[in-house]
Amino acid sequence: MSLEGKVALITGGSRGIGRAVCTQLASLGVLVGVNYVSNPAAAEQTLEQVKTVGGQGFTCQFNVADTEAVQKNIKAIIDQYGSIDILVNNAGITRDGLMARMKESHWDDVLDTNLKGAFNCSKAAMRPMMKKKWGRIINISSVIGFLGNGGQVNYGAAKAGLVGFTKSMARELAGRNITVNCVAPGYIVTDMTEELDQEVQDAIKMQIPLGRLGSPEDVAASVAFFVSPGGDYLTGQTLHVNGGMYMGN
Ligand code: NDP
Repeated sequence: MSLEGKVALITGGSRGIGRAVCTQLASLGVLVGVNYVSNPAAAEQTLEQVKTVGGQGFTCQFNVADTEAVQKNIKAIIDQYGSIDILVNNAGITRDGLMARMKESHWDDVLDTNLKGAFNCSKAAMRPMMKKKWGRIINISSVIGFLGNGGQVNYGAAKAGLVGFTKSMARELAGRNITVNCVAPGYIVTDMTEELDQEVQDAIKMQIPLGRLGSPEDVAASVAFFVSPGGDYLTGQTLHVNGGMYMGN
């Protein structure tokens, strides 16, 4: 399967799941844009990894929650490369805390990055996709958007929101042959989950039928599926990559 000549932008491509998605897409011949917000060294490391699989890419710094910065940077990418054919809205943060004590700023930060960030980037990138009549947008949701989790009302709301966002956008853009889908990971070994102490990790494992946390590569494979020709007839869908932790839809 070759996606030679396609251009992708992966938000939050500097670490974790985003890095694995960059590497996986690059191995399929996609030119990958590695977005990051504050960690240029990590973004360069992703680019190095991209090169080790024979791929090519570039890094681009912007905050997905900053509408103006998104517009400016995505326009610059489109001006340089012609279009963004594949957009992976992956950038995400957590600001956990029980609702009774949750600061308004922690609600806003998570919603602005995880949900509005996907709106900002999709809106800025979609016009050339519409002209070309080809585009693939993948939003990275979470099992928490389906199961909920005490201490994560902000994160759960943003991740559930992405599912409704995906379905509505899928309906709007289907006529232009742009598919919009979600990947909803369970617990994946990245910096984000490294913050969890061992006891919590062991308790989580007990809830996973496959008995292990996932790897970023497990998630990247599902993103690649949506982008590949085999995924052409799928839109508005969510693929659950969680070791069986949640099986509903
Ligand atoms: P990491 O914490 O490992 O990496 C987060 C990435 O997002 C980094 O590249 C970071 O850039 C970037 N980022 C954060 N804020 C912004 C911003 N405002 N603008 C641009 N980039 C930003 O996260 P994961 O790889 O674990 O998670 C990736 C996605 O997957 C997230 O949306 C997360 O919610 C979701 N997810 C993760 C799960 C897990 O178990 N790990 C489970 C379910 C979903 P920088 O390096 O510059 O800080």
